[in-house]
Amino acid sequence: MSRERSVPITHLRNIGIMAHIDAGKTTITERVLFYTGRTHRMGEVHDGDTEMDWMIQERERGITITSAATTCQWHDCRINLIDTPGHVDFTAEVERSLRVLDGAVVVFSGVEMVESQSEAVWRQADRYHVPRVAFVNKLDRVEASFTETVKTIEGRLGVKAAALQLPYRDEDRRLLGVVDLLSRKLLVWDASVQGQTYEKRPVPEEMVARVEDAREALIARVAEYDDELMEAYVTGAAIDEERFHATLRAACIEHGVVPVLGGTALHNQGVQPLLDAVTRYLPSPADIPPIKSADGCEERRADASEPFAALAFKVMTDRYAGRLVFLRVYSGAVKAGGHLLNATTGKGLRVMKLFGMHADERSPLEGIAAGDIAAMVGSQSVSTGDTLCEKHAPILLERIRFPEPVVFVAVEPRTEAELSELTAALEKLAQEDPTFRVRFDEDVNQLIVSGMGELHLEVVMRRLRDEYGVSARVGRPHVAYHETIRTAVTAEERFVSQVGGRGQYAHVILRMEPLPRGEGNRFACEANEEDVPKAYHSAVEEGVSQALTSGPLAGYPSVDIGTTLVGGSFHPVDSSELAFTAAAASAVHRAYEKDAFDLLEPVMQGDVITPAEYLGEVMEDLARRRGEIRELQVRETVQIVRVHVPLAETFGYATRLRSLTQGRGTYSLLVSGYEVVPSGLKEEIIRKQGY
Ligand code: GDP
Repeated sequence: MSRERSVPITHLRNIGIMAHIDAGKTTITERVLFYTGRTHRMGEVHDGDTEMDWMIQERERGITITSAATTCQWHDCRINLIDTPGHVDFTAEVERSLRVLDGAVVVFSGVEMVESQSEAVWRQADRYHVPRVAFVNKLDRVEASFTETVKTIEGRLGVKAAALQLPYRDEDRRLLGVVDLLSRKLLVWDASVQGQTYEKRPVPEEMVARVEDAREALIARVAEYDDELMEAYVTGAAIDEERFHATLRAACIEHGVVPVLGGTALHNQGVQPLLDAVTRYLPSPADIPPIKSADGCEERRADASEPFAALAFKVMTDRYAGRLVFLRVYSGAVKAGGHLLNATTGKGLRVMKLFGMHADERSPLEGIAAGDIAAMVGSQSVSTGDTLCEKHAPILLERIRFPEPVVFVAVEPRTEAELSELTAALEKLAQEDPTFRVRFDEDVNQLIVSGMGELHLEVVMRRLRDEYGVSARVGRPHVAYHETIRTAVTAEERFVSQVGGRGQYAHVILRMEPLPRGEGNRFACEANEEDVPKAYHSAVEEGVSQALTSGPLAGYPSVDIGTTLVGGSFHPVDSSELAFTAAAASAVHRAYEKDAFDLLEPVMQGDVITPAEYLGEVMEDLARRRGEIRELQVRETVQIVRVHVPLAETFGYATRLRSLTQGRGTYSLLVSGYEVVPSGLKEEIIRKQGY
């Protein structure tokens, strides 16, 4: 049955659930879908049976690779849940979903509290100014602490938290329920119906004093943002609950105050109040600032009467429906069958069919409007990050930024005949996943694929086999090194040639200097108009950027270099753009002859977690891998080693760590940037490249 949106935009919530791996995100998502009536049965992670993790190998691995969007209803609100993966190899997915979310639930484990990966996720959300609600999970564990976790959230993440609850435990620290501070009610869930219902009871006598203290702290915190509440707080008058919610909502959306709740998803306690908090405190699409065009000149309000604008934030191939394009609609409305412009490619397209998504099940929609998240079927020409808009009111939204791949491997078909099939399948996978790339390297006559880590490429290769039925031989992983300049140099090139009747003349002087790490390359011009006319500047820039694609040491891309055209000369008849491009490229090559270049390698940062008895071996092994230990933490029986290690040294680490720790160690590492390769190793890497 088709439907149009029946809820007003203020009743929409586009949210994601974010967490450190293992904090309980998948379990919470399951409960949310169950309590909101989207599923009639609860899957457990260990059964490999959850609704969202529907890709075969995700089941095997127990991690969420692809972010699927799913819609559910809580009271009078429609919640679009955008699943964000916890595993660091797939941070591009997190970035992608952050771009289209209006708010997020961040899950912490009440045992592990704030882990380095949760901190990374938190910082990512900061960059996109996403308002957040926190959920402290695993409070059923005796060693869990809600209050300590709240303190760590405040301390480590530097936020103002508004703790809305306190757990209620018996003498053996068994969790019996959760006290809602504002209403002074103990919530107790009915385990016989999998926590679908809960009772509100008076606060137990022995807890009253603690509840009153915590409640006062909560109200004091929220009252900072509203004079009337502050007055009630100071005079001890009754607190108007609606006013409290409205104030906390504004504080959360505008000032980054984080409402914190707790419970245990596994044992079905605390999820409904979390849903209440999502609808109460997180913004609707109408509460966020209007979306801006990429050039910043135009904006669109989240209003169905504005011209249509949407971002294609994900493309995936569905076994049954074919190609699905996930859209976040920012303004306007479109009906199935309507026509749109792909502002990114300039091509028109017809909206064949629209679907609301529930994991891999779809319900057809008649139309979509501002604020919606939905899937579109039938367009081959839309890629991730494209803007779709009305033909008569074109707008280009900012593209989603994805990190550049850091690892590559050569792949070969089993037989020559399978080459085109393999290439086609890999290209399809690359269309879906912007951090996965494929190219044919003419020099070595091989297909080269690249991605964000060893595990990422492994997963893609498995999909190749499982979904496309193509298997391939995969080579050893290689690191995507970069090259850069160490000190400023100046290089000059005079390009003079006589071909046939007409001469060619161009003369450039370039200054090349180091830029901060991660800046990329920049070009500027300081030359006099009389020496090098403006008409040739872009030709010079073109020559420079061509030459920078391959560095002097081992042919890796040159990065973080500022190049300035500082002088030169031209000839009124013989000079041409072509001559200036050639001269600029040669000038860069002259600079390349100077001993001023370094090799850069990707480095990773993260945690290795090992039982204490293996700590010695694990640290020794990390040292051999050029790992730098940044911090050591003890948690229960395990040690957490916060480490900084070159990506090149992490290949095969999963296997090694398993054997060092009898399979009990785990790790999560994230590419944190590029750093200079030590000089001894530099020679070896260059030699291996055949330079
Ligand atoms: P994700 O990696 O964040 O998606 O976490 P999962 O939902 O897969 O949960 C990780 C593990 O923690 C699984 O074994 C869950 O059964 C378990 N888990 C999840 N929630 C709770 C909880 O509230 N209490 C306890 N004790 N375990 C939980």
